Amino acid sequence: MTSLISERIANIRASLPPSVRLIAVSKKVSTELMREAYSAGIRDFGESRIQEATVKQAELQDLPDITWHFIGHLQSNKAKKALELFDWIHSVDNLNIAQRLDTLAQQMGVNPSVCLQVKILSDPQKSGWMTPELLADLQTLNECQHLQIQGLMTIPPLGLKDTEILNVFQRTQELAQEINEQKLSLIKIQHLSMGMSGDYQLAVSAGATMVRLGTIIFGERV
Ligand SMILES: *Cc1c(COP(=O)(O)O)cnc(C)c1O
Repeated sequence: MTSLISERIANIRASLPPSVRLIAVSKKVSTELMREAYSAGIRDFGESRIQEATVKQAELQDLPDITWHFIGHLQSNKAKKALELFDWIHSVDNLNIAQRLDTLAQQMGVNPSVCLQVKILSDPQKSGWMTPELLADLQTLNECQHLQIQGLMTIPPLGLKDTEILNVFQRTQELAQEINEQKLSLIKIQHLSMGMSGDYQLAVSAGATMVRLGTIIFGERV
């Protein structure tokens, strides 16, 4: 049986290079539809709220091989829960939360994979490091031994033209290279988490390794 969701996923998958990881962003989507996506081969789900993820993970306990990605703004008081629920945290957006996660990860005996959220252009709507601030914090981040800092995540500001969006993604890729050239002992940026429903093709052309797609898979969120 083919469903609308499985058809959409097949089309998106066919348009992506095989090495790009497709994360289905399932915030505000029912676990029923998430099961359809799972049946269509999705094993990576992105959620942005701890409470919602707690309920859904309990409902989907019979699907053991899901990788869970946290993509929302993380508050310090939810950090422990985030580490219990998620394999990846894409939205580590300041030094304090990174250090808090590192301390908790040590206590809990886990080594979460994380992306550092960056803002290439200033954007009051978004959290994340501006480039100079991130470069200044790198040495301290490199002391977070219990985090696997593997990627950069970015979301372009709303209202940009395609050429400007592409530029944001390209500059994120260049920033990753610049970080890797510093040969830090722990931080190796191998992933670029960038691209949403409206701009993922631009992101892929700029080197995205993980795209986070919601609407284009599940339809408009209500
Ligand atoms: C909601 C969300 C997405 C998915 O957005 P769509 O436009 O529905 O694909 C991706 N990344 C983050 C961080 C989000 O909050």
